[in-house]
Amino acid sequence: MTVDFSTPRTIAFQAGERNVFFHILTACNLHCSHCYINPEQHGNTTLDKETIFAWLKLFARENQKTNLILLGGEPTLHPDLAEIVEKAKKMGFATTVDSNGFLHHDFLKKTHPEVLDYLSFSLDGPTAEINDPIRGEGVFDVCVQGVKDALALGHRVSMIYTVSGKNIEYLHLMPALLKELGVQKFFIQVIGLRGESAKESDGLQVNRTRWFDVVPEVAREVAKMGISVTWPKVYLADDEKFECAGNVAENYFVFPNGRVYQCPLCEDHPIHSLEIVNDRLVTRNGLTEKQFFGLNIEEGCVMNKLLQPDNICYKNGKVENKISCCMLKQEL
Ligand code: SF4
Ligand code: SF4
Repeated sequence: MTVDFSTPRTIAFQAGERNVFFHILTACNLHCSHCYINPEQHGNTTLDKETIFAWLKLFARENQKTNLILLGGEPTLHPDLAEIVEKAKKMGFATTVDSNGFLHHDFLKKTHPEVLDYLSFSLDGPTAEINDPIRGEGVFDVCVQGVKDALALGHRVSMIYTVSGKNIEYLHLMPALLKELGVQKFFIQVIGLRGESAKESDGLQVNRTRWFDVVPEVAREVAKMGISVTWPKVYLADDEKFECAGNVAENYFVFPNGRVYQCPLCEDHPIHSLEIVNDRLVTRNGLTEKQFFGLNIEEGCVMNKLLQPDNICYKNGKVENKISCCMLKQEL
């Protein structure tokens, strides 16, 4: 069988697919320059395990696959994370933990690979020289060691690289590192102007030409090595239809203060459409993100136009490419 590495698939929003991004705390041992956590909006609580179990029940479905991504802050700072993962698996979730690589509380030793579908590590550079100015001194080495330890114990490992103006020119060095380490999946993300990035956004956003010059080619290189790779669509071609995930998919971004968003771009603003009150999921009235999902504009995603318009290109007053929903991905 020949594999076509030249034609990426757009992963259309699939009816019935559900993703729950559960921030069980907002505390972190690092201070990454682009961190999207915003304690003013997301709180600084560490949820206790009983509350986490009660909230998980709100999203568990017996007959519908639900992907659960446990994150923070740094989720391994939670002393009960291993037990939480095990319980979530028993409840039927496909489980992922997103870590900065520090793997506190002996998380690896306490967690059997059978209950954790993926352990995902974040690196924003192929070397310490690129990664550490963004994520912190010494972080590259700790994270790489964490990847090695996880693989040695039989965990499935993925890696996330958040592309910005600070590191796009080094993305092409990632395939060799992924191969050397034995990582199974690679997620390329694009910087969003939220949290810390919104405060100091100069030079962070990547324009359309640079994105197309670099990202698809690196993705092809990764795929050729037999590593699955996913990256955001960002720009739609003329014949591609714009869809807002808020209307056609089920994504929940849950924060420890009980806010539940359906659009990640809205997370810096108190316009969440749902909230958890007394362990019940309730719909909020008034102005919420929901009202934005239905707006139809030439530029595509309304929240992108409002919050990070610099990535929209116009020619003779017309939009060159609509901006896709940030949840729309391509894969090889
Ligand atoms: S590791 Fe994650 S949560 Fe912690 S500072 Fe970095 S981006 Fe923020
Ligand atoms: S990113 Fe844009 S298109 Fe996607 S859910 Fe949010 S508002 Fe809708």
